[in-house]
Amino acid sequence: MKFHIITIFSDQLEKSLKYGVIGKALETNTIELNLIDPRKFSDNDYGSIDDKPYGGGPGMVMQCEPVLSSIEEAKEQAEKDTLTVFLTPQGEQFTQKHAQKFSKYKDIIIVSARYEGLDERIIQLTDNSMELSIGDYVLSGGEIPSAVIVDSVSRLIPGVLGDAESANKDSFSLGLLEHPHYTRPENVRGEIVPEVLLSGDHQAIEKWRIKKSLIKTFEKRPDLLDKIELSEDQKTLLNNYKKELKE
Ligand code: SAM
Repeated sequence: MKFHIITIFSDQLEKSLKYGVIGKALETNTIELNLIDPRKFSDNDYGSIDDKPYGGGPGMVMQCEPVLSSIEEAKEQAEKDTLTVFLTPQGEQFTQKHAQKFSKYKDIIIVSARYEGLDERIIQLTDNSMELSIGDYVLSGGEIPSAVIVDSVSRLIPGVLGDAESANKDSFSLGLLEHPHYTRPENVRGEIVPEVLLSGDHQAIEKWRIKKSLIKTFEKRPDLLDKIELSEDQKTLLNNYKKELKE
């Protein structure tokens, strides 16, 4: 999969993606980055691509033509009708569902802004696009949000994780939080690893993990339970836990 990213700070983005499994996926071309700097489409000798906002006020706004030309360049290199994602704190909130959807694309174009953001007409003039936010807070630029998207989407691409199962079991993949994890030693300052995990009984371990995943979700993110259809077994496990709480 190829991520076409429009940014004036490609260095920041590249550096943040060169570690661990994502760094390896880039080295082996399992995923690719095509970084486009809109400054190369600047209409002046200084390479500037921002200007004062009409109507006054603080900050600068990214101009239409350099960004639109960058998107056009990306589209020329990408599969026809691919999606363009505009990063903005005003967009739809990014979730694992978006990551799952994006991981099916061959190409995706991401527009990372700076300053006060983009001239609104850039979004109006771009077909097959959407606005995405990584949360209700404001960052100085779209490079960190771009890295968030590249990382979370790449984990779902075959060959990126050593064990493909690992992404399927991650929190949010099936609508729940993941069960807790433990590693050696068995006893840490009196806190003991749950016995079932040492039993070697894979069925019992799986059942314990499903139960813990439900309990964690119920305790930390009950809103997630409203969005999924639990199986009859899951409902029974959760109801038994709720009963235990009341006793
Ligand atoms: N003036 C804008 C506003 O109030 O909505 C914020 C601009 S912000 C300083 C500059 C750029 O950083 C944004 O245009 C966007 O590309 C990126 N950015 C900042 N926060 C973000 C978030 N929560 N999600 C996605 N992108 C974000």
